[in-house]
Amino acid sequence: MDCPEPIICDLSLSDFLIRMEEFHGYRSPGLLVGGMMVDIALRELGPTPYLNFVTETVVCLPDAVQLLTPCTIGNGFLQVLDWGKFALTGYDRVTLSGVRTWVNPEALAGYPLIHRWFERSMRTIPKPPFDELASEILEAGTELLSHRPVRLQRALKDPDRVPTGPCPECGESYPLRHGPACPACSGKAYYT
Ligand SMILES: [Zn+2]
Repeated sequence: MDCPEPIICDLSLSDFLIRMEEFHGYRSPGLLVGGMMVDIALRELGPTPYLNFVTETVVCLPDAVQLLTPCTIGNGFLQVLDWGKFALTGYDRVTLSGVRTWVNPEALAGYPLIHRWFERSMRTIPKPPFDELASEILEAGTELLSHRPVRLQRALKDPDRVPTGPCPECGESYPLRHGPACPACSGKAYYT
């Protein structure tokens, strides 16, 4: 018997996996879960004229948002928090109504491969093949994820105009909110 192929944000699973490899470089369980999270957020939000997203981790979820929605880091409609939490919120930046979705820790108990992957224990244990992990993720489906409506305290996009000026040390322009010199000249340079 043929099961209908799962649909993630209007893409069939096989199309989503192809796009994932093109965009992210390889098939990633985190991106698969992320796609399901974006799908739930969009579905629960309904029509959202001023769509923004915020992710609470720097891994996987920013790519799920950028692959599946018009919100990117570069256009400012995706913010990325380095909290290490596998959660994201889609919201309207005018009404500030949003939907937050996250991995439900209680659901993990029934899914040993997902549990092992999610608890990051795979650095010491061999990683399950993507297909095995993916079929467990698809079997768990939305049971794996919790969601609820939230209200943003403010839109997270930076205002378009921030005061800038030349750095007294290097002469390059920088946002003055960083202090009297640019971040690089204030000891945060990542290069020598
Ligand atoms: Zn400088």
